[in-house]
Parts: sequence; C-alpha cells; structure tokens
Amino acid sequence: MSASTPQPVRGMQSLLGEEAERMAAVVAAFDRVRRLFGFKRVEVPVLEPTAVFARSLGETTDVVSKEMYSFEDKGGDSVTLRPEFTAGIARAFLSEGWQQYAPLKVATHGPAFRYERPQKGRFRQFHQLDAEIIGAAEPQADVETIALGAQLLSELGIEGVILKLNTLGDPETRAAWRDALYEHFAAHRNDLSEDSRERLERNPLRILDSKAHADWPIADSAPVIDDFLTSEASDFFAAVTAGLDSAGVAWERAPRLVRGLDYYRHTAFEFITDQLGSQGTVLAGGRYDGLIESLGGPHTPAVGWAAGIERLAMMIGAPEADTSRAVVIPLGGAAEAVAGKVLAELRRAGVAADMAYRGNMKKRLQRANAAGARFAVILGEDEIAAGEAQVKDLASGEQRAVAFAALAEAVRA
Ligand code: ATP
Ligand code: MG
Repeated sequence: MSASTPQPVRGMQSLLGEEAERMAAVVAAFDRVRRLFGFKRVEVPVLEPTAVFARSLGETTDVVSKEMYSFEDKGGDSVTLRPEFTAGIARAFLSEGWQQYAPLKVATHGPAFRYERPQKGRFRQFHQLDAEIIGAAEPQADVETIALGAQLLSELGIEGVILKLNTLGDPETRAAWRDALYEHFAAHRNDLSEDSRERLERNPLRILDSKAHADWPIADSAPVIDDFLTSEASDFFAAVTAGLDSAGVAWERAPRLVRGLDYYRHTAFEFITDQLGSQGTVLAGGRYDGLIESLGGPHTPAVGWAAGIERLAMMIGAPEADTSRAVVIPLGGAAEAVAGKVLAELRRAGVAADMAYRGNMKKRLQRANAAGARFAVILGEDEIAAGEAQVKDLASGEQRAVAFAALAEAVRA
C-alpha cells in the first residue's frame, strides 16, 4: 500500500460478509413485520434543504447545532445529509400531497449522517429503520407504532431489551414542567456540567437526558412530569399504557425520559439494552404533533420511531452464511467450455452454484468444501463425451454419473 492509498471518511464503514449480512437480516425482518402491521414503504431523499431539519428538529438540539453534515451545493443552496428520517418524511407529506392519504402509515430504511465522535455503536454514516403514522391523534396510533417495534425486536430474537415509556404531556403540561425544571436546575447551576449550564437557558428538559455523570444526581432529584399533567394529557397516557397492556407489550415507566429532539409531545419511548455499553438505545421515538406545523403545514398529529440498524445487527444471532449448493469443477480445456453452460443451467434452475477453476483437483475440492457446497459436479473429457458429469456428494464421499439434463434435480435432492 502506498502512502496515498485513500482511506474512508472517519466513522464510515465498509462491510464484507457476515457484518453486511447482519444488516441485511435486520432490514429483511423489518420489511416482513411492517407489512404485517400495514405500514407502506416510502423512499425519501438522502439530501434535503437544511431548513427541513433545522426548523423541525429544533435549532438548539445537538443534532442541529453540532452533528449535521450541511454544505452549499453548486447552486449556492444549503443542503444537509439527513441525520434522521422523520423530518424528510414530514416534508414529503406536505410537498408531495400525501396529506390526502392521512392517516398514513409509512416505513423506510437507509443511511443517515451525523458528525459525532465515532465509537462502538456510533458512526458518522449509520443506518436507520423508520416507521411513522402521520395524521393520527389517537393513542391507538402510539400503541400500534410501539407494538411494531416490540414485534420487530422479538422476531429478531433480541432478548433483554426493555421498553422505557414516558409522557411529555401536552404543550400546557410541558410548559409548566419546563418552568419547574428551570427553577430546580438553576438552584444547582454551579454543580451542573458545562453543557447543561448552557442547556438550562435554552431547554432545561434536555438536562434530564445528559450523558455527563455530574448531572445525574441533580437530574434524579428533579420534579417529575406527573405533578404537572393536565387531565387530557394524563388520560392520553393512560390510554396508551392500557393499549400496550392489551397488546401484550411490556413497558416500564421512566418519568425522566426525554428525547433529544424538540418535536416530541405526549408519548416518548426507548427500547434499551445493557448489551451495547453506553450506546444502549436501539429503537426510540414518540409523538411529534408539532413537527409538521414547524415546517409550515397544518396541525398534523403524528407518531413514529427510528432504530439503529448497526446496533440491532450487533445483537442478533449470526445469519446463515451464504453457501453454494454445488460447485462445478472442469478438468481440461474442453471441459471448461462446457462448464459455463452447466453452471448457467444450474443457476437458471434455481440452484446456488459456483465454479472452481483454479489449482489441482484437491485444491478445487477444498474450495468447494470452503464454499459450503454439498456437491461437486466434476466435468472431465470422458464425461463430456458421454453427456454426463460425475456428481460427488461432499458429505458422504459417494460419487455417481449423472446426465447433464438431470443435474439440477440430482443436486437439489
Ligand atoms: P444516542 O442517545 O445514542 O445519541 P439519539 O437519541 O441521538 O441516540 P435518535 O435520534 O433517537 O438517537 O436515533 C434513533 C436511533 O438511531 C438510536 O436509538 C440509535 O439506535 C441510532 N443512532 C443514532 N445515532 C447513531 C449513530 N451516530 N450511530 C449509530 N446509530 C445511531
Ligand atoms: Mg445522539
């Protein structure tokens, strides 16, 4: 390697084999489960006008103030690589006329970008699953969204994940709680971390979500939202928890759970695990009734979640490795010419097949074994003349002659 060999952008992964298969397995399970729940597939751009995220996520959130990949394009417009899906889906809901389909249940997945310090389970290009119900104010929508997440985790065979649930109340509740939190944290101003002293003026709720140990005891003694819930907010939360109970989704109350983005109202939740160190949140979301208005749209209640595919991929069992059912081994020039045809016919018949064309017979059989193949299809001059191949069962060592026309059947069995 010369010194000038290009390196990847920091925090952006290139994956081969099992690690890539794990991510594909997570996506496949998501695609299966979202269909069971009637969530339609959507595609939205990787790039949006910067305002889409700045206005909806909240200018003071970490994501907007520090983590966005924003740049000017050649036309001088400020654009941003999506740090998450919700804002772009909300933008599409407004600009693409999707309002006519409300309540709209949609799901998507793909890369997202955040400029943060890379570590285990934290990357600058990562991948999310995303599910949203837009245009539904009913607590049933919250229940359904959360149940989708729970079933996904269970179908992925991920155990030991706990659903932490909270309500952030309606705007009235939130404003009263916010004032009480401000008073509480202001009284402890000098003991707070530097970040949290800053958060105090802009958004004291965020201190509850602090990753700085210094803030934890102060956050633990902070007023809880329950003392400020309006009866509407309290009824709404009761309906969500009753719905979860009836759907058989286990949950735990987490009265200090807040989410990192500004747009949440009422329900907030996180599925967390202790298996991934400090990157313990695998799936998180909530109700965001204010988001679409912040983009200039009509009041549109909505609820949704996102999950980190890399974090889920680390927690599932290893997917079955790709194997070839048969490996074709041509011996000699004439055989090589026929091997291409045999291989193509096997594949067209739906048999996963490969060819070993390098080295001596022993090497080629080793290759076939390494590929996990059950059969070696050996083509020699004599066999070709007879329109046959030798089919060797690599498990039992048995070998027999099979006519070309019967090959696919022989190796499928
Ligand atoms: P965290 O507290 O870990 O930073 P977050 O609150 O910023 O998470 P969300 O914005 O809720 O995360 O994103 C939803 C999910 O996406 C997270 O629960 C996590 O699984 C995943 N995720 C978020 N940021 C990253 C990242 N930089 N690398 C990998 N996965 C991520
Ligand atoms: Mg984050």
